[in-house]
Amino acid sequence: MPLRRLVPLLALLLSLFSMAVASRALVAEWTRLQDADRAGLALADLKTVLVAAEMASRERGPSNALMGQGAAAPAVLKERLALARDRTDRAIEALQTCLRARAGQPRHAMAQRHLEQAVRQLQTGRAQVDAVAAQPHDGVDAAAIRQAVQAMAAVIPELGPAAALMADELQRAAPALAPSVQSARMAADLREFAGLLGSHLTAALTQQRPLTVEEHLAFERTRGRLDQVRGQLALRLDDTAAADAVQAAWRDVGRAYFSSGLDLAEAVAGRGARAAARGPDPAAFAQAYVPRMDAIVALRDRLLAQVSTAVAREAVDARWALAITGSVTAVTLLLLGLMAATLKRRLLDPLGATVQVLHAMARNDHTDALPVVKRRDEMAEVVDAVAALRQHARRQEAMALERSQLIAQLNESSNTDFLTGLPNRRCFVDTASQVLARAAAEGRPVSLVLLDLDRFKSINDQHGHDAGDRALVAVGEVLKAATRAGDLAARMGGEEFVVLLEGCGDGQALQFAERLREQLSRMRVSLAGGGVLQLTASLGVAVQQAPDGPLDGLLRLADAAMYQAKSQGRDRAVLAPPGGWVGPEGA
Ligand code: GH3
Ligand code: MG
Ligand code: MG
Repeated sequence: MPLRRLVPLLALLLSLFSMAVASRALVAEWTRLQDADRAGLALADLKTVLVAAEMASRERGPSNALMGQGAAAPAVLKERLALARDRTDRAIEALQTCLRARAGQPRHAMAQRHLEQAVRQLQTGRAQVDAVAAQPHDGVDAAAIRQAVQAMAAVIPELGPAAALMADELQRAAPALAPSVQSARMAADLREFAGLLGSHLTAALTQQRPLTVEEHLAFERTRGRLDQVRGQLALRLDDTAAADAVQAAWRDVGRAYFSSGLDLAEAVAGRGARAAARGPDPAAFAQAYVPRMDAIVALRDRLLAQVSTAVAREAVDARWALAITGSVTAVTLLLLGLMAATLKRRLLDPLGATVQVLHAMARNDHTDALPVVKRRDEMAEVVDAVAALRQHARRQEAMALERSQLIAQLNESSNTDFLTGLPNRRCFVDTASQVLARAAAEGRPVSLVLLDLDRFKSINDQHGHDAGDRALVAVGEVLKAATRAGDLAARMGGEEFVVLLEGCGDGQALQFAERLREQLSRMRVSLAGGGVLQLTASLGVAVQQAPDGPLDGLLRLADAAMYQAKSQGRDRAVLAPPGGWVGPEGA
C-alpha cells in the first residue's frame, strides 16, 4: 500500500484506538463524577432526615416541660414548645419535599408511607401532650404523661425507612464512606436514645415521686440501647484511624453527656427510692439535661461534615480527572491529525511530485516543475539532489548534442573540398562506388567526365595563386550549375574535376562534356587588380562497359581520354573508345 494512503489509515486507526481507550477512562471518570454528585444529593437528603428526627426528638424537651407544669405553665414554656413544633414541622416539610423528588424510586413508597405515619403519630403525640398540659398540675395522670411521651417517641422510628433509603443510596454511591455514614446514623440514634432516656423521667418529675417499676424498666431498656450504641461508636471512633476532629467530638460526647448528662438522668432515676426530697421539675430537668446532648449532635454533624468533605473532594477529583482525560484525548487526536497532515504536506506530496520529475527525466523531459520545499529539512535535501541531478543530465544532453553536431560537421568537412565546396576525392570515390554498384544492379549505364584546366600553372604564374583559387571556385560554380540532381560533381585535386553521370550513355555524356567545355570557355573570372581571366579545359569522357567494372578502370579510361584531348590541342572533349586505346597513348 502506498504511504500516502497508509499514513492517513494508520492515523485513523490510532485515533480510533486512542478514542476507545480514552472513552473507557472517560466513562469511568464520568461514572465517578455521577456517583459523587449522587452521593452529595443523598448526603443532603440524609441530613434532612436526621435533622427531622432530631427536631421531633428535641420537641419532646419543651413538651415534657409543659406537661410537668400543667395549665399553670408560664407562657415562656408554651412559646418554647410552639417554636420547637414549628422547627419540627419545617424539618418534616423539607423531608417530604426530598421524598417527593424520589417518587418512583425503589423503597420510596415504603419511606413515604412511614413518613405519613410519622406525621400522624406527631399529631397524636401533640394532641396528647396538649391534653395533659391543659390539666391543672395536681390532676395530672401519670399514665397520660407516659402515653404522651411514648406517642412522641413513636414518631422517630417512622423516620427510619427514609433515613435507611438515603444512607443506602449514599453508601452505594460512595462505598468508602459507609463507615462514616453509619457512625453518623449511630450518633443520631445515640441522641434519640439519650432524649428518650430523659423523657422516661417526665411523669415522675411532674408528680415529684420515684419512678414506678414500669418506668424503671422503660428507663433501663433505653439505657441498655444507649450503652449498646455507645459501645459500637466507641469501637469505631476510639480507633486512631478516625479523623482528629471526630475523635475530639467523641471525647466531647464522653465529657458532656456520658460523664455529666447521663449521671444527671441516673441520679433522678435512682433518687426516688432513697430520698423524698423534691427534685427538679421537668422544665428544670430539661434545661439541665438537653444542652448536654448537644455534644452528640455535634459529633453527628462532625461525621456528616467529614462525609460531605470527602464527597466534595471526590467530585472535584473526578471533574479534574475527567477534564485531564478529555484534554489528553483531544490533544492526542490533534497531534495525530497534525502528524498525518504534516507527513502528507512535507513529505508525501513533495515526494510524489519529485518521483514524477524523475520519471520525466528518464524520458529526457526536464520541464516538470520540482516541488517548492520551504523548510530546510530532509525533503528539501532530496529535492536539491534531484535538481542537481537534473542540471547534470541537462548538461550531459547539451554536450551530447554538441558532440553529434561536431561529428556531423567533421564528417561534412572531411568529405568536402574547402575551396569550391564540392565533394572531395574521398567522398567521390565512396559515393561513385555505390552509384556504380546500384547502376550495375539496375542495368543502367554510367558515364564519367574528367576535366583538367589547360595550362593552369601559367595562370598561377601570371596572376598569382589567389587568382588561380578564384578561378577554381568559379569552375566549381559552373559545375554545380551544370549538373542535375543525381549527377555527382567533385574536385579530384589541383585543377582536376570529375562528374559522374548516372543513367547516361556515351552520346549524352559527350554532349554534357561539350556543353561544359563551352560554358567554361565562356566563363570570365574578374581579377583583383582589374581585368578578367579566361580559361579552357580538356575533358575526357568514359562510359562504364563491364556491368560491375571497378571505378578505377573507368577513371583510368576517362584520364586517357582527357590526355587525348590535351594532346589533340586542349579545349576539347574526347570520348574514350569502348575498351580504351590500344598502344602507348592508352597507357
Ligand atoms: P596542362 O594541364 O594544360 O598540361 O598544363 P598545366 O599547367 O595545367 O599543368 P600542371 O598539371 O603541370 O599544372 C597544374 C598546376 O595547377 C600546378 C599548380 O600550381 C596548380 N594548382 C594545383 N592546385 C592548385 C590550387 O589549389 N590553387 C592554385 N592557384 N593552383 C593550383
Ligand atoms: Mg593537371
Ligand atoms: Mg592542367
